[in-house]
Parts: sequence; structure tokens; C-alpha cells
Amino acid sequence: MDIGALPTSTMQDDYQLTIRPLFEHGRRQHASSKVITFTGDGYTEASFAEVAERADRLAAALTRLGIRPGDRVGTFMWNNQTHLEAYLAVPCMGAVLHTLNIRLFPEQLDYVINHAEDRVIIVDASIAPLLGRVRDTLPTVQHIITVGQGDTSSLGETLDYDALLAAEQAGFAYPEVPEHAGAAMCYTSGTTGNPKGVMYSHRSTYLHSLMATSTASLALAETDRMLVIVPMFHANAWGVPYAAWLIGADLVFPQQYLQAAPLARIIEDTRPTLTGAVPTVLNDLLHNAPTADLSSLRMVMCGGAAVPRALIEGYQQTFGVWITQGWGMTETSPVCAFGTPPKDRADRSEVDWRVRTGRVMPGVELRLVDDNGAVQPWDGESLGEIEVRGPWITGSYYHVDAPDRFDDGWLRTGDVASVSANGFVMISDRAKDVIKSGGEWVSSVDLENTIMGHPAVAEAAVIGVPDERWDERPLACVVLKDGTQASADDLRHWLAGRTAKFWVPEHWSFIEAVPKTSVGKFDKKVLRAQFAGGDLDVETLD
Ligand code: ADP
Repeated sequence: MDIGALPTSTMQDDYQLTIRPLFEHGRRQHASSKVITFTGDGYTEASFAEVAERADRLAAALTRLGIRPGDRVGTFMWNNQTHLEAYLAVPCMGAVLHTLNIRLFPEQLDYVINHAEDRVIIVDASIAPLLGRVRDTLPTVQHIITVGQGDTSSLGETLDYDALLAAEQAGFAYPEVPEHAGAAMCYTSGTTGNPKGVMYSHRSTYLHSLMATSTASLALAETDRMLVIVPMFHANAWGVPYAAWLIGADLVFPQQYLQAAPLARIIEDTRPTLTGAVPTVLNDLLHNAPTADLSSLRMVMCGGAAVPRALIEGYQQTFGVWITQGWGMTETSPVCAFGTPPKDRADRSEVDWRVRTGRVMPGVELRLVDDNGAVQPWDGESLGEIEVRGPWITGSYYHVDAPDRFDDGWLRTGDVASVSANGFVMISDRAKDVIKSGGEWVSSVDLENTIMGHPAVAEAAVIGVPDERWDERPLACVVLKDGTQASADDLRHWLAGRTAKFWVPEHWSFIEAVPKTSVGKFDKKVLRAQFAGGDLDVETLD
């Protein structure tokens, strides 16, 4: 449309939505809010004012090392206060924060650092050897800054983070940065081919942070205390550090102590009101720390993978806490849908609402597109691939063409779902995990959830395996809880009446653990490879 024909706005539309005003707002208005980091045997604590001052010094130190606006600064770190300092300082100085996934294989780590052309990497000394494996093949990396104690010998010459900060003053003169500039980047986990980079802008981060304070998502408030379990290298820890900083919610960081016992201790000691994690982490806490006191939590977010009904019911029955599901991806900043039950619950129970993937949030446009490119209605039944667009959704990948991932300005998510008339998404599968039996879709997600509802089952992952008659049939890979027993036949009976008859798998495999991706999700591609290589013990029922 020609703007010339329309009245011009009198607003300050050139005001730049950047991380700088977000940073300054938190620093000034929430100076006494706290950042708490678990150290394994105790806690460190700093106020927002202290963290902001350290961020100033970091910006000054990086500038002294030659970092300029646009340069990429990598972090190879756990969730801790220092990582938060980098989250704030690097974008505010106009550079780009590149959070590196500490669990990548060396080849992928090498690829992403070289592809992003990182110039400096800040690394927790405790994991320095993991970065050391690729140090010799990183020509763009001019400096490595280490934090804390550890064996850093594999990194060659390094600089000490605290010593660098001690040499600088507070009150860095930050430059003006345009809102469309890159603020932070994150690579997808690269399940097929090389990882792809997503560059978050200042504007997208600002708007996504505001949304986290809305009742359409977390309703994050100053009175909240957020325990950040989701890795800060994974989609900006679901955007929570920036949102908490903006609104003055205390932040609690667990570093590497993510097992059930230390997590339970951290929750009991620091009494957070909010936390969030992928289902595997929450499942571990439920099964291995069932007597933990989680009563401080007003909400536990769960997402990144389908959330089993048994997990939601388990949290309610065991801890008296509701799980709220969210949906998104690295490409979407990440949150696009959030599962707070609606005002009108019709005849559905609380749990029936909470098992849904989430309700499309304001700011996100979502449509379903079928195999023929036809847009499907929001009727709760029609299935299609989810496509999204909006201000915190990527429109391309960093320096890589991937036309098949976009459709006329919409991001193709690869998730197959239905949407109800009031905007509740229900994912039935990822496109690459879809099982087609005799031309009909079998939802591996539904099957997994139902199997995991059996009292003896700890984990279940369902993959499609070739079948002469039906093309493909489901194979259920099941992990039993310690000290329990269930046969394939028991589980088949459990499914009968709970799912469509033709979905019920005849192939079963009992395994020690479901393989996990670097961020703790079920890794079905490993299971598929194990099946293809004959490494799974499969029992086939008549
Ligand atoms: P990865 O490919 O490593 O899993 P992401 O973390 O970006 O990378 O994962 C995004 C994907 O996770 C989504 O496309 C979707 O398949 C899955 N996902 C995220 N949240 C949910 C949810 N609540 N229910 C089902 N699947 C989800």
C-alpha cells in the first residue's frame, strides 16, 4: 500500500527497540533484584546493579581487545551470572552474542564457530577441554577468556575474565545501535546436515521479552524468581534472562547441577516461583526427587518436545504444581504458543487443556498448510504443517540459503498439528517423525504419551519401521522404571481402547534409556539408526 495516501503517524516511530533500554531499565528500576548462582556447595549472589556494573566493565574489556559493533563474541558456558553479564554487555556494545552449545560434537562446534566467525570466546574453565578439542582450527578466534578454575591448558594462551574486568571502570559509553541489527545468534542442532544459524535482532529480543511479561505467556513479574534450567545456549534460554532483567524478576542459575538431587536442593533453598525445562529434565525430577518441596513454584513451563499427560498429572499429584506447556523453536526466539487454559473450559478438564501444545500468542501469526499447499481451517481436526510469521520469527538463516524452509514469507516449522477455533495448537508429530501406516498417519507423539501413562513406564519413543504390507508400522522403544515390570503384551493391552486400533504397535523394544539430543530431547534419529543397524532387540507380537 502507498503510505503517501495515508495519514502519517505522530508517534516516535524511529525509537529503536534495542537491548540497551531493556538493560538500563533493569539496572535502574530493579537495582536490588538478585542474581543467584549455585556453585555445587553454596551460592553466589549479586544485585542487578552489581551485574550491570560488571557488564559495563566487560564491554570495556572487549572493546580494549578490539571487539567492534557487528563482531561475534562466543560464549561456551553453563547458566551462571557471568553468562548473564555477556548476555547484557555484548549486544549493548553492538556486538553479537553467539551462545555455543557445549554439547556439540567437535566437528559441529568447529563448524559453527568458523561459520559465525567468532572473534572472542568466553569459556567456563570447568569445560575448557571441550573447547580445547577444536582450538587449533579456529582461525578467526583471536582471544579466549576463561572464567573460574579449571584445566585451560588445551586452549593455549588465554585471558582471565575477572582480571580483565578488574582493569576497567564502570560506566561504559555504549554506542547507538539500530534495532534491526543482530543482537544474539544461535545455531539449530542440525539434525539433518550442518547446523543453521539464526540471528536474533535487538527488536525481536525486545518484543519477545515484553511478551514474556504478558498474561498471554508467563506473566513474568518483579515478584517472580526464575530458576533458569533451559541452557542459555539454547534459544536464549527461552528468552527468560532478558525478560526477567527487564521486569526485575530475580534469576537463579544452576550451572551444571541439573540432576534431580541438586535441582531439588536449589528449589528448596532459593524458592523460585517459576521454572521451565524440557520433559526429560522434569521427568527426572519427578521420578528421582518425589519428596522435594516445590511449593514455591506458581508455574512450571515445559516444552521443546511433546509434554506427556502422565508428566502433567504427576506434577499435580506429587508436587501440587501445574505444568504449563509452551511451543516454539530456535527459529522463533522461541516462544510462539503458551498453554494457559482458557476462560471457557467447555466440558474439558484442566489436564485436557494442559496436554495441548499451547495457544497461539499475540504477535504470532500461525497457519496450517497441507501437503498440497492448501491452508487448513482451525477446526481442531484438520491437520497440516505449522507455518508462522511475526516480529520474533526468523525470515532466513544466517548466510545459508534454505528456500524449502520458507513459504512466501512464512517459516515452515516441520511440525504437523491441528488448531482449535480458539487458537489451541495440538502437535501430532514432527514431519520427519511422521509414521504412515497403510496411507494413514499414526501420531508417534500420542502413542508415546499414552504408553508413558502406564505406571511401569519411565520413557517411551515411537519410530516408524518398514513394513511390507503397510509400508510402515510403529516400533515402541520403552524404558521401564526401576523395580517395575511390564511385558509388550501388557503395554499392548494398556493401549487398546486408549488409541486407534491400527496405531497399536506390534513391534516393541525394551531399552536402557532413550537416546537424547544435546538439549535433552528424545533423539529418534539415533533410534532409527540403531534399528537399521540391527542394534535393537525387537519383540514382535502376533
Ligand atoms: P531441535 O530441532 O534441536 O529440537 P528446537 O529446540 O528449535 O530444535 O526444537 C523445536 C522443535 O521442538 C519444534 O519444531 C517441535 O517439533 C518441538 N517442540 C517444541 N515445543 C513442543 C511442544 N510443546 N510439543 C511438541 N513439540 C514441541
